[in-house]
Amino acid sequence: MERNRPPQRKAVLLDRDGVLVEDTGYITSEDALRLLPGVPAALAALRDAGFLLVVVSNQSAVARGMISLERLFEIQAALDRLLARRGAALDAAYFCPHHPSEGDPPFRRDCPCRKPRPGLIERAAREWSLDRAACFLVGDSERDFAAAAAAGVRALSVGAAVPGVPRFDGLPAAAEHILASSKGTSA
Ligand SMILES: [Mg+2]
Ligand SMILES: [Zn+2]
Repeated sequence: MERNRPPQRKAVLLDRDGVLVEDTGYITSEDALRLLPGVPAALAALRDAGFLLVVVSNQSAVARGMISLERLFEIQAALDRLLARRGAALDAAYFCPHHPSEGDPPFRRDCPCRKPRPGLIERAAREWSLDRAACFLVGDSERDFAAAAAAGVRALSVGAAVPGVPRFDGLPAAAEHILASSKGTSA
Protein backbone atom coordinates (compact mmCIF):
# COMPACT_ATOMS: atom_id res chain seq x y z
CA MET A 1 0.00 0.00 0.00
CA GLU A 2 2.34 2.68 1.32
CA ARG A 3 4.94 1.20 -1.02
CA ASN A 4 2.98 2.03 -4.16
CA ARG A 5 2.33 5.62 -3.28
CA PRO A 6 4.56 8.17 -4.95
CA PRO A 7 7.17 9.87 -2.77
CA GLN A 8 5.58 12.91 -1.26
CA ARG A 9 7.26 13.95 1.93
CA LYS A 10 9.37 17.05 2.16
CA ALA A 11 12.53 17.42 4.17
CA VAL A 12 15.26 19.82 5.03
CA LEU A 13 18.55 17.97 4.79
CA LEU A 14 21.11 19.42 7.14
CA ASP A 15 24.85 19.25 7.24
CA ARG A 16 25.91 19.04 10.88
CA ASP A 17 29.22 20.84 11.38
CA GLY A 18 28.98 24.52 10.48
CA VAL A 19 25.18 24.36 10.15
CA LEU A 20 23.78 22.96 13.41
CA VAL A 21 26.91 23.13 15.55
CA GLU A 22 30.11 25.10 15.37
CA ASP A 23 32.65 23.53 13.06
CA THR A 24 35.52 23.08 15.50
CA GLY A 25 37.36 20.50 13.40
CA TYR A 26 36.74 16.84 14.06
CA ILE A 27 34.18 16.53 16.84
CA THR A 28 35.28 13.58 18.95
CA SER A 29 33.34 14.32 22.14
CA GLU A 30 29.92 15.70 23.03
CA ASP A 31 31.74 18.37 25.04
CA ALA A 32 32.75 19.91 21.72
CA LEU A 33 29.14 20.32 20.55
CA ARG A 34 28.21 24.00 20.44
CA LEU A 35 24.83 24.76 18.93
CA LEU A 36 24.93 27.70 16.55
CA PRO A 37 22.69 30.69 17.35
CA GLY A 38 18.97 30.23 16.76
CA VAL A 39 19.28 26.63 15.60
CA PRO A 40 16.66 25.02 17.89
CA ALA A 41 13.99 27.61 17.06
CA ALA A 42 14.74 27.38 13.34
CA LEU A 43 14.45 23.59 13.42
CA ALA A 44 11.19 23.79 15.36
CA ALA A 45 9.73 26.24 12.83
CA LEU A 46 10.67 24.00 9.90
CA ARG A 47 9.18 20.97 11.61
CA ASP A 48 5.97 22.88 12.38
CA ALA A 49 5.74 23.61 8.65
CA GLY A 50 5.81 19.89 7.89
CA PHE A 51 9.45 19.37 6.98
CA LEU A 52 11.26 16.27 8.09
CA LEU A 53 14.67 17.19 9.47
CA VAL A 54 17.46 14.89 8.37
CA VAL A 55 21.16 15.26 9.04
CA VAL A 56 23.51 14.21 6.22
CA SER A 57 27.09 14.46 7.39
CA ASN A 58 30.57 13.31 6.39
CA GLN A 59 32.36 12.05 9.51
CA SER A 60 35.70 10.76 8.32
CA ALA A 61 36.91 10.98 11.94
CA VAL A 62 35.71 7.36 12.02
CA ALA A 63 37.86 6.28 9.06
CA ARG A 64 40.75 8.24 10.53
CA GLY A 65 40.52 6.21 13.73
CA MET A 66 39.72 9.26 15.88
CA ILE A 67 36.35 7.92 17.03
CA SER A 68 34.43 4.67 16.73
CA LEU A 69 31.13 4.39 14.95
CA GLU A 70 29.56 3.86 18.40
CA ARG A 71 31.03 7.16 19.63
CA LEU A 72 29.71 8.91 16.54
CA PHE A 73 26.20 7.78 17.43
CA GLU A 74 26.71 8.70 21.10
CA ILE A 75 27.68 12.20 20.01
CA GLN A 76 24.55 12.32 17.86
CA ALA A 77 22.46 11.23 20.85
CA ALA A 78 24.04 14.05 22.87
CA LEU A 79 23.13 16.51 20.10
CA ASP A 80 19.56 15.17 20.16
CA ARG A 81 19.42 15.78 23.93
CA LEU A 82 20.79 19.32 23.55
CA LEU A 83 18.10 20.04 20.96
CA ALA A 84 15.34 18.38 22.97
CA ARG A 85 16.09 20.60 25.96
CA ARG A 86 15.46 23.56 23.64
CA GLY A 87 12.26 22.21 22.11
CA ALA A 88 13.68 20.85 18.86
CA ALA A 89 14.11 17.40 17.37
CA LEU A 90 15.66 15.80 14.31
CA ASP A 91 13.96 12.94 12.48
CA ALA A 92 17.08 11.09 11.36
CA ALA A 93 20.82 11.37 10.91
CA TYR A 94 22.85 9.74 8.15
CA PHE A 95 26.62 9.71 8.30
CA CYS A 96 29.42 8.78 5.96
CA PRO A 97 32.13 7.32 8.22
CA HIS A 98 34.41 6.56 5.28
CA HIS A 99 37.44 8.09 3.65
CA PRO A 100 38.88 7.03 0.31
CA SER A 101 42.52 7.04 1.46
CA GLU A 102 42.78 7.49 5.25
CA GLY A 103 42.73 4.76 7.88
CA ASP A 104 42.01 1.09 7.35
CA PRO A 105 39.19 -0.97 5.86
CA PRO A 106 36.27 -1.25 6.25
CA PHE A 107 36.09 2.52 6.67
CA ARG A 108 38.87 3.28 4.20
CA ARG A 109 36.71 2.99 1.17
CA ASP A 110 35.80 4.82 -2.01
CA CYS A 111 32.16 4.92 -0.97
CA PRO A 112 29.08 6.35 -2.67
CA CYS A 113 27.97 8.23 0.46
CA ARG A 114 30.79 10.70 1.08
CA LYS A 115 29.67 14.13 -0.08
CA PRO A 116 30.09 15.50 -2.79
CA ARG A 117 28.53 12.19 -3.80
CA PRO A 118 24.78 11.99 -3.29
CA GLY A 119 24.57 8.61 -1.46
CA LEU A 120 23.46 9.96 1.92
CA ILE A 121 20.74 12.07 0.35
CA GLU A 122 19.66 9.19 -1.90
CA ARG A 123 19.34 6.93 1.11
CA ALA A 124 17.34 9.49 3.06
CA ALA A 125 15.09 10.04 0.05
CA ARG A 126 14.48 6.30 -0.25
CA GLU A 127 13.91 5.59 3.42
CA TRP A 128 11.66 8.59 4.02
CA SER A 129 9.84 8.64 0.65
CA LEU A 130 10.97 12.18 -0.06
CA ASP A 131 9.75 14.36 -2.87
CA ARG A 132 13.15 15.75 -3.79
CA ALA A 133 11.66 18.71 -5.63
CA ALA A 134 10.12 19.82 -2.33
CA CYS A 135 13.32 19.33 -0.33
CA PHE A 136 16.14 21.66 0.60
CA LEU A 137 19.67 21.05 1.77
CA VAL A 138 21.38 23.51 4.07
CA GLY A 139 25.15 23.22 4.04
CA ASP A 140 28.27 25.26 4.45
CA SER A 141 30.69 23.75 1.96
CA GLU A 142 30.94 23.18 -1.75
CA ARG A 143 30.77 19.43 -1.13
CA ASP A 144 27.33 19.80 0.41
CA PHE A 145 26.02 21.73 -2.58
CA ALA A 146 27.51 19.30 -5.09
CA ALA A 147 25.83 16.39 -3.29
CA ALA A 148 22.52 18.26 -3.30
CA ALA A 149 22.83 19.04 -7.01
CA ALA A 150 23.65 15.41 -7.82
CA ALA A 151 20.59 14.30 -5.84
CA GLY A 152 18.26 16.89 -7.36
CA VAL A 153 17.69 18.87 -4.17
CA ARG A 154 17.88 22.67 -3.85
CA ALA A 155 20.86 23.85 -1.82
CA LEU A 156 21.21 26.82 0.51
CA SER A 157 24.51 27.98 1.98
CA VAL A 158 25.22 29.21 5.47
CA GLY A 159 28.94 29.17 4.75
CA ALA A 160 30.89 29.07 1.52
CA ALA A 161 29.89 31.54 -1.19
CA VAL A 162 29.28 29.49 -4.31
CA PRO A 163 27.71 30.78 -7.54
CA GLY A 164 24.12 29.67 -7.91
CA VAL A 165 23.67 28.80 -4.24
CA PRO A 166 21.74 31.37 -2.18
CA ARG A 167 23.71 32.32 0.90
CA PHE A 168 22.30 33.14 4.34
CA ASP A 169 23.71 34.24 7.65
CA GLY A 170 22.96 31.10 9.61
CA LEU A 171 20.22 28.49 9.76
CA PRO A 172 17.52 30.87 11.08
CA ALA A 173 17.77 33.04 7.95
CA ALA A 174 17.94 30.01 5.67
CA ALA A 175 14.88 28.55 7.40
CA GLU A 176 12.95 31.79 6.87
CA HIS A 177 13.73 31.56 3.17
CA ILE A 178 12.60 27.93 3.04
CA LEU A 179 9.37 28.72 4.87
CA ALA A 180 8.64 31.68 2.57
CA SER A 181 9.38 29.75 -0.62
CA SER A 182 7.36 26.68 0.34
CA LYS A 183 4.22 28.51 1.41
CA GLY A 184 1.15 26.97 -0.10
CA THR A 185 2.72 23.54 -0.67
CA SER A 186 1.39 20.70 1.41
CA ALA A 187 3.35 18.76 3.99
MG1 LIG B 1 29.94 21.46 7.27
ZN1 LIG C 1 30.72 6.83 2.89
